[in-house]
Amino acid sequence: MRKIIYPGSFDPPTNGHVDLILRASKIFDFVIVAILNNPNKNALFSLEERIEMLQEIIKKNNLKNKVEIDNFNGLLVDYLKLKKCNLVLRGLRVMSDFEYEFQMILTNRKMFPEIETIYLMPDIKWIYLSSSLIKEIASFGGDISEFVPKEIIPLVRRKFNNTKK
Ligand code: ADP
Repeated sequence: MRKIIYPGSFDPPTNGHVDLILRASKIFDFVIVAILNNPNKNALFSLEERIEMLQEIIKKNNLKNKVEIDNFNGLLVDYLKLKKCNLVLRGLRVMSDFEYEFQMILTNRKMFPEIETIYLMPDIKWIYLSSSLIKEIASFGGDISEFVPKEIIPLVRRKFNNTKK
């Protein structure tokens, strides 16, 4: 069974993340969405909130048998070894992603030579989308309904304590 691990902050998950999860679930037998639970990363949403949002997404897209939500802290390579998996999924949007990913993969390879990373590009609609952008818009009470699955809008709004659309 070919499984792949999709690590990330998912703070919060966006339509770009969902796009990648859907694409990967068609290519691989099983996808593990692994939330990085690193206290130094200063996530806005708690681990529990991010799990809840991703679970909603899995449920809505009928992916229960194909996608699992998990979390890890520490090094990705250690988590991969624990899961007995050498395949990693990452998204590529803009050139800045490329530079960061290039550095990450080469460093991770030093520690875990068998690691292979698969990069997928989202639909062009989501190419500019990031979790930071969502947080920025939501913090000012802007409309995020085009950028995140509708199931998680209330959770994002609750965080910023605003009821505007
Ligand atoms: P990280 O802090 O690990 O970058 P993110 O949650 O921001 O965590 O991103 C996780 C992965 O999802 C990264 O590979 C990132 O490139 C990808 N990603 C984020 N947003 C999008 C998007 N709009 N389209 C495609 N991939 C995305």
